[in-house]
Amino acid sequence: MADAKIIDGKAFAAKVRERVGRQVAALKDKHDLTPGLAVVLVGEDPASQVYVRNKGKQTAESGMNSFEHKLDISTGQDTLLALVNQLNDDPKVHGILVQLPLPDQIDEQAVLAAIDPAKDVDGFHVVNVGRLSTGSEALVPCTPRGCLMMLKDAVGDLSGKKAIVVGRSNIVGKPMFQLLLGESCTVTVAHSRTQDLPGECREADILVAAVGRPGMIKGDWIKPGATVIDVGINRVEGEGGKTRLVGDVDFDSAVKVAGAITPVPGGVGPMTIACLLANTVTAACRQHGVEEPEA
Ligand code: NDP
Repeated sequence: MADAKIIDGKAFAAKVRERVGRQVAALKDKHDLTPGLAVVLVGEDPASQVYVRNKGKQTAESGMNSFEHKLDISTGQDTLLALVNQLNDDPKVHGILVQLPLPDQIDEQAVLAAIDPAKDVDGFHVVNVGRLSTGSEALVPCTPRGCLMMLKDAVGDLSGKKAIVVGRSNIVGKPMFQLLLGESCTVTVAHSRTQDLPGECREADILVAAVGRPGMIKGDWIKPGATVIDVGINRVEGEGGKTRLVGDVDFDSAVKVAGAITPVPGGVGPMTIACLLANTVTAACRQHGVEEPEA
């Protein structure tokens, strides 16, 4: 059997960003509307700093307004909540993202709950979680939204396909389950207590791995020809003491069995920020009651 088609997330994300750029231009032109995204970072976690910098850069490149708020690691909950309320009230801000994790003195759930659901471009507010699960108009978490885009592109109509999501977190596994169900897949959600995980995986036409365990899913767990989306980002020690990134799927064995597969890095990762920009356009259009440009 030929090796799987490699799904190029970098190229895909570039296309999504270009589309967002055209949508932003159309909104400015037709409605005098410039979507704005505010990102709040508390503390100096190096990975979060890089991520926030990339978000700001890509937001500005797409033609949107980018607002960055960097707060000291010792910031108290009241100060952060006051900032969130200020952003909720700011008409130039259509999307708010508070970078997680937050320092221990701050209750993450209280902060997420304070974000106006209409501006919750991360899709973590319970109102958006509820809307997604009832099939009504929601802002959808960025990583699963990106996975679904890639799946639809690779597979076409997902209706009736058997899918497995390995992992049941609120940010990836559960919303991924909802999205696949929404596409009329028959979905299994697996987790650390699942019995015979390899057997469950072998049944699936579509496998989404969001576990956080390097190379856990082996090639012989995969149904021949299945489409594999690897969300995992794990830093492991490579040759010469250098570290490298690997996914939750053992790529070298999986690529020989799957029909299509995302690599790590360069698969799901780049799609997350692209979908954040897409969510900001969606949020801005809904807040202003204008139709999202086709672009
Ligand atoms: P969590 O740690 O929140 O969840 C991991 C899930 O995997 C849990 O549901 C857990 O089960 C399950 N799990 C753990 N061990 C096993 C096992 N041996 N067998 C089956 N299931 C298991 O992780 P996240 O969902 O936040 O992230 C998952 C991965 O995706 C990470 O590598 C993360 O870095 C990456 N990620 C990548 C993103 C991107 O590409 N932009 C964005 C977000 C995450 P249980 O619930 O029973 O404990």
